[in-house]
Amino acid sequence: MDTFGCGWKPRYGIRIAGTTKKRPLEETVTAPVPALVGRETWERAQTQRARNKELSPRNAQRQYLLRGMLRCGLCGMMYTGEFSRGRKHGHSDLGRRYYRDTRRVEYRFQLEGRCLNKPIRADAIEADIWDEIRELFQDPDKLLNELKAAQQSADEKLKPVRDKLQITEDLIKQAEEELDEIAMAMRAARGRMITKFEQQQDEINARLDALAKRRAKYIKEIGDGMVTDERIDTIMKAAHRVKRGIERANYQGKRRMLEALGTEVTVTPGKYHIKTLVGEKDGEISQMKRGGIRIVRNSY
Ligand SMILES: [Zn+2]
Repeated sequence: MDTFGCGWKPRYGIRIAGTTKKRPLEETVTAPVPALVGRETWERAQTQRARNKELSPRNAQRQYLLRGMLRCGLCGMMYTGEFSRGRKHGHSDLGRRYYRDTRRVEYRFQLEGRCLNKPIRADAIEADIWDEIRELFQDPDKLLNELKAAQQSADEKLKPVRDKLQITEDLIKQAEEELDEIAMAMRAARGRMITKFEQQQDEINARLDALAKRRAKYIKEIGDGMVTDERIDTIMKAAHRVKRGIERANYQGKRRMLEALGTEVTVTPGKYHIKTLVGEKDGEISQMKRGGIRIVRNSY
């Protein structure tokens, strides 16, 4: 039986009475699914599909590199990508991509409560942020040292969470042993004793449910916060490629890199503040000339 990594493993969730809520991952069972087409064919088709999607001009208009990473420095709201067509007929038919403050969108038709931060041209801020990343890549040795330092401080920060995870796992083991003991005792029990044991089982099971939830929370916290060797490796490989000029990173590549670096951007009128695993920096958002040409301050 052949199976394809992720994407083809269905999550069987048992419906919890009255809700359509998915079961937490650790409680779901994954089952291998037989392959209908050969792996190679499937992989080729996936690659082609991804490429088509990326090359489609319609999609390029809808891709926002900083999705979920851009926040307003005045009101703290996230920015969302928004596509705006040219107002004058026949003029700028291609339209423009913007990032808008979600608070500004919310209060579009009134002044009170509306944030003063204006929409930002996506082409400008995306290029500015990518320039910053490329600057980080210019000195790979320094970058590697900084990533190692970030790894160490992430480990230190996560130590208390790891300790809590260990305690939770011990408690789970303990509760499971109690269940075993009750099961043993029940074999010899009669009448009212059985009812008593059943009550105890219910109590322990409720406790186990709560513990499993807590365990899942800690595991996620550790997974999100960890700077793995693999993550560092991914960043360093891209850094070398970009530095040698052999990488003309596309949207997916840039997006992966921004994610790996844990990028967060805060915007105030005309300015941005970028924060990554390896440090923080301030800069000015580029102006866009008519015709979509960006006025570049620095280029790498
Ligand atoms: Zn705002």
